[in-house]
Amino acid sequence: MSQRTALVTGGTGGIGTAIVRYLSRQGHRVATNYRDAARAEEWRKRMAAEGIEVCLVPGDVADPASAEAMVRAVEAKCGPVEILVNNAGITRDTTFHKMTYQQWTDVVNTNLNACFNVTRPVIEGMRARKWGRIVQISSINGQKGQYGQANYAAAKAGMHGFTISLAQENARFGITVNTVSPGYVATDMVMAVPEEVREKIVAQIPVGRLGKPEEIAHAVAFFTTDEASWITGANLAINGGHYMGW
Ligand code: NDP
Repeated sequence: MSQRTALVTGGTGGIGTAIVRYLSRQGHRVATNYRDAARAEEWRKRMAAEGIEVCLVPGDVADPASAEAMVRAVEAKCGPVEILVNNAGITRDTTFHKMTYQQWTDVVNTNLNACFNVTRPVIEGMRARKWGRIVQISSINGQKGQYGQANYAAAKAGMHGFTISLAQENARFGITVNTVSPGYVATDMVMAVPEEVREKIVAQIPVGRLGKPEEIAHAVAFFTTDEASWITGANLAINGGHYMGW
């Protein structure tokens, strides 16, 4: 397998850590961003204890200038970004009639506008080098909608439109662009949901359990391989059978 430079946004989170680990173990040079230097250092030490060295750079994906500086810092430290995983995300759940503009824009900025902010400084280099792999981490709730998540579902659904347009524009430059849409995965994001709500969610999952971060990482890594060069504009739903639509 070719060794590449990969940037995984939100790599210190639950799913992000699994993606960083998986790509690192495949031999790639992996970078991610942080916003809190002290927390990032703790995380870096934990990864180093596993034998995984990660290139850490500061960066807020919701802020265009910060995202561009983050990409340039990765390039300076580890070389041009060849694999990009737009994974950083947040939720600010509430029913729409109570939703504030701040809750709406925070979620759209972090989940959807971040795709512009991070991909824009990366794409020209990928086109010039005629190789690239871009994977968006969307969500089951971008496919089916979710009570209390109009902001999140809208942002995650928007990532699909982004993916399929970018896939068309860049296919002849050796760049594939795909989306992975996880169902409910046992990370802090989901464990923050009250237990009784979580139990109701699990009851709706045919496989009968929450997903594991490694199961998402495995799919992301598959899209980044040389062998996946004919897969572009795809959405891979990984949700234990929870939603079987598009
Ligand atoms: P976590 O909350 O565990 O991790 C989120 C990561 O994103 C953290 O590293 C966080 O960094 C980073 N992040 C958040 N906002 C920003 C920002 N503005 N700039 C830079 N980094 C930021 O979430 P998960 O691992 O669970 O989720 C990862 C992705 O998967 C998200 O896009 C999420 O929407 C999606 N997803 C998750 C599901 C789940 O069940 N967990 C289901 C479906 C989709 P910091 O520590 O600085 O906040």
